[in-house]
Amino acid sequence: MDNNVSSTHWDIVIVGGGNAALCAAIEGASAGQRVLMLESAPRVYRGGNSRHTRNFRCMHTGPLAHLTDDYGEAEYYDDLLRVTAGKTDEALARLAIRYSEDCLPWMQAQGVRFQPSLSGTLSLSRTNAFFLGGGKALVNAYYNRAADLGVEVLYDAEVTDITLDNNRFETLQATVDGQSVTLRGRSIVLASGGFQADLDWLARAWGPAARNFLIRGTPYNRGVVLKNMLDQGAVSVGDPTQCHAVAIDGRAPQFDGGIVTRLDCVPFSVVVNRNGERFYDEGEDVWPKRYAIWGRLVAAQPDQVAYVIIDAKSIDLFMPSLYPPTTADSIAALGAAMGIPLDTLTHTITTFNAGCRDGDFFPTELDGLATEGVHPPKTNWARPIDTPPFYGFSLKPGVTFTYLGLQVDQTARVFGPNGPYDNVWAAGEIMAGSILGQGYLAGFGMTIGTVFGRIAGQQAAASVATFHSNS
Ligand SMILES: Cc1cc2nc3c(=O)[nH]c(=O)nc-3n(C[C@H](O)[C@H](O)[C@H](O)COP(=O)(O)OP(=O)(O)OC[C@H]3O[C@@H](n4cnc5c(N)ncnc54)[C@H](O)[C@@H]3O)c2cc1C
Repeated sequence: MDNNVSSTHWDIVIVGGGNAALCAAIEGASAGQRVLMLESAPRVYRGGNSRHTRNFRCMHTGPLAHLTDDYGEAEYYDDLLRVTAGKTDEALARLAIRYSEDCLPWMQAQGVRFQPSLSGTLSLSRTNAFFLGGGKALVNAYYNRAADLGVEVLYDAEVTDITLDNNRFETLQATVDGQSVTLRGRSIVLASGGFQADLDWLARAWGPAARNFLIRGTPYNRGVVLKNMLDQGAVSVGDPTQCHAVAIDGRAPQFDGGIVTRLDCVPFSVVVNRNGERFYDEGEDVWPKRYAIWGRLVAAQPDQVAYVIIDAKSIDLFMPSLYPPTTADSIAALGAAMGIPLDTLTHTITTFNAGCRDGDFFPTELDGLATEGVHPPKTNWARPIDTPPFYGFSLKPGVTFTYLGLQVDQTARVFGPNGPYDNVWAAGEIMAGSILGQGYLAGFGMTIGTVFGRIAGQQAAASVATFHSNS
């Protein structure tokens, strides 16, 4: 009964079909309210960016499920401060961190299963809880749970306009299976993601370079509801040019390539731009703390492309990539195959190799094996690129999600021009910019969505219950 719902009047209407929307729906329905979810994607593509995920970052005071040791609030917040350079809302950030510990058992109770952390360059066994079967299994478990609780879902249902009167949500317009419909609700939760899939909007924020960006996730997060709310005076947070972007294989599709297009070999490599020149320290820090800066670094290079070059010594040190590397027996042959100017590339690699020093190489920790006399330096894992075969991958910026969003309070209520709206809440990417002013902490997107999705669902349900008891 996918696109045949039982009513046009609902207690809670939820815009979106990813993690934040589902957490809100489950909480709202668990509190006994009648909940409708509107998902702009067709059923087969439901689940937004959430279906691409693998883990969430979780505070814990002792071993929890597969999480080892402990990961306390102070350390978690400190990690966040470092990646955001302090650009965060402390109260909202601490709320997300503290509440994450309660979320893991709650997720298990809704049918989400966990597994030991994956090995590879993102070694996160202490801080991040991995979903068995990845985000797709998580999303499916939540949809099953929501259905058991009586949540109804409309697919191919894009919300286009939200009517706000006297600081209150009254009705919304949506296009469902191509037909325009009006729906009414007592409260609304906005969980429709960022605007990264609207390439025109990205180009307005970033300039024409954005036309060369790839979007790692769903093509349905086009910011339609975000724009509609901002146009009506909702208070915005975040900078339109800030986003989570990583370096991905240049051969990835324009949308939805997912996690398998990410390349984790940068720390063991030399990275050059289209001109064959190095431009940044590939070994600045361990990869989980650096992978999220490489999207922006590549975005700043000519034509928004770069090339990562490794040799036979490093090919087994990272998660294998989806696309096979270009392979050659010499650097000159590799450059020719990849279209990098041979003279500059050969000079770059020769200079780099001459700057490498003897020392112990430890791939999983900072080893201090640094170059000398090379600009920019490589400060860890600097081994000469000298053992054939040589391998190359092209890199492009892959945008994960944008940070411009709606400002919320600690109950996830959205701020309008006259203070918080009476009955409008937001969760997930659409409000994450309050907490992520810049930078990114692996696994924090799902934490923000889970925590604020749950809070939004609980709060929306409580406001509807108050409405019922007063009427
Ligand atoms: C490849 C990849 C890997 C990632 N890995 C991780 C990870 O391991 N851990 C982590 O924490 N984060 C990860 N992230 C980030 C993570 O996906 C997001 O932070 C999180 O999923 C956001 O959840 P959300 O519910 O806000 O958005 P989404 O899951 O994107 O859901 C938004 C939903 O809104 C719908 N929608 C959009 N516009 C409308 C509209 N107008 N009307 C109706 N519906 C609409 C979309 O179809 C979608 O269903 C990853 C992202 C990508 C792309």
